[in-house]
Amino acid sequence: MRISLSNTQEGRTYRYDAEFTDEDVGSLLDSTLAEPMRVSVSYTTVEGITYLRVKTEGKVDACCDMCGVACTADCGCVVDEELTRDSQCYDALRDEYVLDGIIDEAVALSAPRTVLCKPDCKGLCPICGQNRNHGNCNCQQNQPRIGENNPFGVLQDIFPTGGANNGSTKM
Ligand SMILES: [Zn+2]
Ligand SMILES: [Zn+2]
Repeated sequence: MRISLSNTQEGRTYRYDAEFTDEDVGSLLDSTLAEPMRVSVSYTTVEGITYLRVKTEGKVDACCDMCGVACTADCGCVVDEELTRDSQCYDALRDEYVLDGIIDEAVALSAPRTVLCKPDCKGLCPICGQNRNHGNCNCQQNQPRIGENNPFGVLQDIFPTGGANNGSTKM
């Protein structure tokens, strides 16, 4: 996409919307899109500076960071740039800004940072691997007793169950 400065009215806001498919996104994102990515480009030129905003929004196929289950995740970002005739993307020959690089950058920055299958995902049990969203395992009850050689082992006998809270700490 290009912005032709000779066709740009000072102070007026221009906006273009597009939908990107996996083909448009290519290798910029690691994930597959679960729906087309909405890309909106808007800009206003004031006193020789073009204030550009590229906004992306969509969903990608992903795996939950906590439990590993396949799910979809929101993706998107906002990139703001101030363009002048000194900017790298300025094409002096045609008096245009070439936005492809900035749009590619916005698409690449859209990847979700954290992925959760649901906001309160309980994750996996670190001991048996049971998905805690599907129910609790018995690992918590069967936690091994602290070893006899461990110097803290003696504390288990002084405070059998949460001992410090029952007021019996004075010997
Ligand atoms: Zn999960
Ligand atoms: Zn478990």
